Amino acid sequence: MSDTEHSESGSRPSNFIRNIIDEDIRNNKNGGRVVTRFPPEPNGYLHIGHAKSILLNFGLAEDYNGHCNLRFDDTNPHKENIEFVEAIKKDVAWLGCDWGDRLFFSSDYFDALYEFAMQLIKKKKAYVCDLSAEAMREYRGTLTEAGKDSPFRNRTVEENLDLFARMKAGEFEDGTKVLRAKIDMASPNINLRDPTIYRIRRGVIHHQTGAEWCLYPMYDFTHCLSDALEGITHSICTLEFEDHRPLYDWFLDTLETSCHPQQIEFSRLNLEHTVTSKRKLTELIESGHVAGWDDPRMPTIAGLRRRGYTPAALREFCRRIGVTKSDNVIEMGVLEGCIRDDLNKHSPRRMAVLNPLKVVITNFPEDDEVFEAANHPQDETFGVRKIPFSRELYIDRADFEEVPPKKYKRLIPGGEVRLRNAYVIRCDEVVKDSDGNVVELHCSYDADTRGKKPEGRKVKGVIHWVSARHAIEAEVRLYDRLFNHPTPDNSKDGLSYLDHLNPGSLRTLTRCYLEPSLGDASPGDQFQFEREGYFSLDSSCQPDHQTGERARSKSIFNRTVTLRDTWAKIEKKR
Ligand code: ATP
Ligand code: MG
Repeated sequence: MSDTEHSESGSRPSNFIRNIIDEDIRNNKNGGRVVTRFPPEPNGYLHIGHAKSILLNFGLAEDYNGHCNLRFDDTNPHKENIEFVEAIKKDVAWLGCDWGDRLFFSSDYFDALYEFAMQLIKKKKAYVCDLSAEAMREYRGTLTEAGKDSPFRNRTVEENLDLFARMKAGEFEDGTKVLRAKIDMASPNINLRDPTIYRIRRGVIHHQTGAEWCLYPMYDFTHCLSDALEGITHSICTLEFEDHRPLYDWFLDTLETSCHPQQIEFSRLNLEHTVTSKRKLTELIESGHVAGWDDPRMPTIAGLRRRGYTPAALREFCRRIGVTKSDNVIEMGVLEGCIRDDLNKHSPRRMAVLNPLKVVITNFPEDDEVFEAANHPQDETFGVRKIPFSRELYIDRADFEEVPPKKYKRLIPGGEVRLRNAYVIRCDEVVKDSDGNVVELHCSYDADTRGKKPEGRKVKGVIHWVSARHAIEAEVRLYDRLFNHPTPDNSKDGLSYLDHLNPGSLRTLTRCYLEPSLGDASPGDQFQFEREGYFSLDSSCQPDHQTGERARSKSIFNRTVTLRDTWAKIEKKR
């Protein structure tokens, strides 16, 4: 993880959070220690925005020789579950972040938090309130109008302690009573108008504490106190919590905790053509618009991983976008640039025909030939592989045009083209079906052109191919933006983000032909299919570890990214 947030030259990035920490260290605040945490709520899978927060928190801890806790903020049991806990752990580890033995749950502190709440009551800083949720909203006031005191605000300490204990004992129904902090109903900051700190949730089973509790602490109360209990020095969160900071500080000051973490806010990552809100991602799954949390079109870490993104690319992406306090939306091209750079360096080259057109080399002998080709044009350490060549090949339909547009350099009737790593061929005859569709090309090859220029003529085009008899058949999935609009949840056209879904975000090609060496690929293996992009074998192609058989006999490859930023061109044309 040492290059988490580092520039390629290895120097530390500077940002306002690092400046604050540097200053704290100079002043020997917290004894010079740096302890951070990543605090996900296990109510969904993590997305790319979380990756930014993870790499920031773990990266700071590492750079300042501190540590970073992984803490599940699990105070909302009916939306949370253990599947999400496990998925989050997997994703954080996959990004290269190690929480060691510092895995925590807010629910680990339920007893301590209950004690804190009783202390607040004893200090006359909290009270049990019987207002309904609706009445409480009315009493709260608005941004321009002060709120009104609850009629239950002046209950005695004894009465509050008794009621609170009975809330814990399960005597009262959900929604009939809450515990509220007693702060200031006239505060200009609505978060300080006697916020609820405990609510009743009877009969829910919590994934960590089971049926032990029917009383659950609210996020704001839990979060700052969990930070304090863990000795967090810098509690880094996104900007929407800025207005909660006074409340965060009020709890810590009123309760006189031994540690007072400093909350620092940074701007969320927003990415064009997608949404990064767990609620909306959940909705996409539940409404069937995507296949699940790890659908390769999803901006989730699981989706990106399945699509073929690498931890190195996500780290580089977070480094490039930096950490600031200003709201912005990052272009998809920035993310794609990072994965392209990484895969260009690390993926072997292969030939794969996605839209096959049969080619018969009429003057080629019946016997096969085997060529050797370099696996990487710039890196010899990738070695070579064998590619069989035979009388019948497949080329891509797009590499032949009967009526070629201007400057077309590929195969045309009577024209020549070079087959990559092999010979120059000429198209002698175009075979069509009764509807006039081209079904096959009859070509002849020039035996003198292997690895050599043809004599006396120029052949400009080079196309890829596979031997029909040796090729493996595969399914290839091509992905496009999930949403057509760059900011689907802020489109300012009165439409819902769902109205901006791109109906062409997934294109499945069911009959593609790949060079035989791709038959040995394992799920997650990555390749550049020459001229087509970077591809990764889908996780569903994992062989069963008992039988050794794959659930699907056919290979499925996901296109991670195209070779060039074709999207930028389309945007310009619009
Ligand atoms: P969502 O809005 O998707 O539900 P959340 O903020 O409720 O996200 P949490 O699980 O509470 O999700 O987030 C854990 C941490 O990740 C928080 O510290 C939060 O500030 C941070 N985080 C969430 N979304 C982003 C984002 N888009 N960019 C950067 N950090 C984020
Ligand atoms: Mg949250």
